[in-house]
Amino acid sequence: MAGNTRQRPRTCVACREESFRRALIRVVRSPGGVVLLDERGKLPGRGAYLCARRECIERARKTGALSRALKAELPADLFERLEKYVDSGGAGYDGVRIRRELRSLLGLSRRSGTLHIGTDSVKSQCAKSPLLILTAADCSESVGAIAERRTGDAKHEHLRLPLSVEELSAALGAVNVQAIALPERNGLADRIKMLLKEGGIALEQNESVRTSQDTGQEQ
Ligand SMILES: [Zn+2]
Repeated sequence: MAGNTRQRPRTCVACREESFRRALIRVVRSPGGVVLLDERGKLPGRGAYLCARRECIERARKTGALSRALKAELPADLFERLEKYVDSGGAGYDGVRIRRELRSLLGLSRRSGTLHIGTDSVKSQCAKSPLLILTAADCSESVGAIAERRTGDAKHEHLRLPLSVEELSAALGAVNVQAIALPERNGLADRIKMLLKEGGIALEQNESVRTSQDTGQEQ
């Protein structure tokens, strides 16, 4: 249960299809019994997932699947809020605009020749200069651990991207990219950090993203 949390696919309670966490909405029943939309997928409590599409939200409403999965009564306006969230492209973590701008900044970094692509390249560069290390949302546990270890002496900074390995690879025209890095003192690094902060993502900085507090529904 403790291993590979990031890579584990989650099941939508409405359509029962598996998907990676990024494409899903997490709804959580807090330890106090309140059911909330968990935009960043980090709130403690019992979680359940829905595909980020109207079809599944509607189905969950009709079948009561979400309420059953959370073993809780849902707030009256929850489904309305979920629909709004999906229609807006996900205002927080999964924001469409932020992800698009991020891909374009990463493309710029690559063309400027300042970007180190791939875990090995990041590791060898770490000894030389302070880096902003960026990992894919669904990078392997070992790559995430490497990035976190490198930030242990506070010389480097590590942020997790709201992009999957597949999306990150596509943005860079490469294959299976789990981690990248660019010099910490660099205009593009600053812009990427600002963009992630805007999306509420920089709050995850140097923080473990494991969801050990999650229970039942997600195993
Ligand atoms: Zn679904």
